Order: sequence, then structure tokens, then C-alpha cells
Amino acid sequence: MRKTMTLDVQTIRKDFPILSREVNGHRLVYLDNAATSQKPQAVIDCIVDYYSRYNANIHRGVHSLSQEATDAYESARKKIRDHFNIKHSEEVILTSGTTHGINLVAHGFGTLLSQGDEVLVSAMEHHSNIVPWQMLCERTGAQLKVIPMNEEGVLILSEYDKLLSERTKLVFVNHISNALGTINPIATIIEKAHDRGAAVLVDGAQACSHIRPDLQALDVDFYVTSAHKMCGPTGVGMLYGKRSWLEQLPPYQGGGEMIKEVSFEKTTYADLPHKFEAGTPNICGGIAFGAAIDYLQEIGFEAIEAYEQELLEYATEQLLQIEGLKIYGTGKDKTSVVSFNIEGIHPYDIGTIVDKLGIAVRTGHHCAQPIMDFYKIPGTVRASFAFYNTKEEVDQLVAAVKKAKMMLA
Ligand SMILES: *Cc1c(COP(=O)(O)O)cnc(C)c1O
Repeated sequence: MRKTMTLDVQTIRKDFPILSREVNGHRLVYLDNAATSQKPQAVIDCIVDYYSRYNANIHRGVHSLSQEATDAYESARKKIRDHFNIKHSEEVILTSGTTHGINLVAHGFGTLLSQGDEVLVSAMEHHSNIVPWQMLCERTGAQLKVIPMNEEGVLILSEYDKLLSERTKLVFVNHISNALGTINPIATIIEKAHDRGAAVLVDGAQACSHIRPDLQALDVDFYVTSAHKMCGPTGVGMLYGKRSWLEQLPPYQGGGEMIKEVSFEKTTYADLPHKFEAGTPNICGGIAFGAAIDYLQEIGFEAIEAYEQELLEYATEQLLQIEGLKIYGTGKDKTSVVSFNIEGIHPYDIGTIVDKLGIAVRTGHHCAQPIMDFYKIPGTVRASFAFYNTKEEVDQLVAAVKKAKMMLA
């Protein structure tokens, strides 16, 4: 039993086989968790078990294997439902990930928006929460408006108030910024939007590895996330939608699984959630998503949050001792993402040198070019920490960045 408020990081690290490998002659220090997390043995075993013992297509066969696979897949859906405190299983649409979920909703709103309508996006979105809406606006003639942020990388809510009007139909905002680490006040954002009759989609891709959102309490209309950032496999994710919304939206893709009856004259669609799940899904991925949730729950989000805050504070403090280092994203509500630059040095060069020392960080625009434009920088170095990282790894990062600075300055 590990479910205590404190977290035994050395024991936890043993669950992740990749953490003991070497990169460029050094023990891997993996600090690119905002791009994707590593996978614990329990999730890897779940995948091997599926393909070794009960691989079959789901929802169709009468044979036993198909039944076993269907039961496992549907039980993963229930696990996801309970984890996010979602009311109905059919409100959980299994997708290929966050990008898929956003595109599904944006496509659906094509029939609900028209010229004169407005949609609001925040200034700190990932490209996957910008481009599908721009495409939607091109199709419908609706207008996209931007909720600005301040120098700290925090949304300016008074500007949001001014942008909201009867014309606002939809607001889409991330829960946590992948480039800055800022935690957005989504409960307030949702409440204000609802007061004006607008719906809200929250991009939770970056949030769900750090916190456990309660979707009923938030009263959010749509919430999307990806399994791969929360210890699960790539190619699977969740779209939550309130049933009333999912019933209104048209299907996204046509094909098998999503129909009730097909003839050449007319096709009727399956009930939720299958209406939005055309074709053979990522069956193994869905089941392993469930295993990842089990794993995270066993550690416990209270412990994860507390420990990651400690790492964030320590990393911020240590990095700021390097002269000329500037951190982007300095709001008080933040997760364990530290985006920074050193004056006069290109982020890519820092990334390359620290990689030689076995440290994986991200460099570049982090799929959030508007943020880089805001700060007038080409990109940043981003170190993003998970609950399996340690203070020693922070020290290694700081030493490596100092070394890079010496070599490059
Ligand atoms: C990772 C990420 C995405 C994209 O997720 P995919 O899994 O690539 O679809 C979108 N938004 C945010 C905030 C992210 O961090």
C-alpha cells in the first residue's frame, strides 16, 4: 500500500523500467513529461496481456474472446467515468487523443454556428486547441476572439468579461498550459460563460497527469484529454461531453460501430457513445488507459500534487540562481513545468548540450507559437517534472544548464 500523503519516489521509480536506462553514457533524466509521460510496468504488462491472451474485435463477435475484450474495454470506460466523476458512461467517448476530441467537437459545431456568432480562445493554447476552431470559423463565418494574458502568463479575466456577449457561443481554454505550466481558473471561466449562455470546452491534456478534475463539479460542457500524458499509451484519449450536447452534435466520422441500421436510402446512427466511435478503436489502448488510471489512483493525486509542487519550487529556486536565466510562466497557480531561456543563448543549443548529459528536456515553441510571439522569443527550454522525478535530477539539470551556459556564452 502506497496510498499515503507522502510519496516514496525511490519505490515508484522501480515501476518505470525506462528510468534505469542510459542515454549518451549517462543515466536518463527524463524531464519531458509535458510531451509524454513514461509508462509503469503495470501498463506495459496490461498491453502484453491483452495481445497475449484475449486480442479480439469488440462489440461484434459472439465468441468468448470478443466478449472478454468487450468487457475489458467497457470496464475501462467505466473506470475513466469514475475517475473524472462523470455521471453517465455514454458521456465518455474514447478517442485517439486530445487532438481528435477537439476536432470532433469543432466539426460538430459546424452545424450550430453561423455568421455573427463568436467563439473565444485563450492566448495560451496548444495549436490543437486553435487550428480546429479556425477551420470551424472559416466554414461557418463565426469570429474567433482571443482572451489575452499578462506578462506572468496568466489570463486577464477582466478582458474575458469584456469579450463575453450574447454572440459568444463557445469558449475553449486549456486547464493547464503545456508551455507555461499556468493552471487556468476554469471553474470561473465556465461559470461566466454559462451566465452568457455559451458552452465551454476544456483541453485537459496537460492537466490530468497533475490533478484529478471533477467534471460534474466543474459543470464543464466538454473536456478532452490524452492517455499518453498520464502514464497510458499513445493513440487513445477521452472526450467527455454532457449528454445533451453529444446528442445535438452530428457524428464526426461514418463507418462501422457508429450505426444502428444502414441501407442505401438511409442510415440511422447508434446511440451514445458509439455514435462517435466509428471503426475499430484502439482496444488495447483503451484497456491500458484504464490500467494507467488504476496506477495513478494507487499513488493518489493528493500525494502527486504535493510532491510535484515541492519539485517545482525547488527547480524554480535553483534555476533562478543561474545568472541571465528567465522563467516564462510565473503565475502563482502553476504545475511542475519550468519554461526558461538564458540571455543571448538559443534554447535549441541548451537542449542539445544537456541531452549529451542524458537529460531530456524540450526546446522550441511547444506547439504554442502565439505564446512565443507574445514574449518575442523563438522558443524556450522546458523542463517538465513528473512524480517519479527527484531533487537530484533537478540538481543534474541545473549543473547541465550551467555547463551549457559556460560553453555557449
Ligand atoms: C499535449 C497537448 C495537446 C495535444 O495532445 P495530443 O495527445 O497530441 O492530441 C493539446 N493540448 C495541450 C495543452 C497539450 O499539452
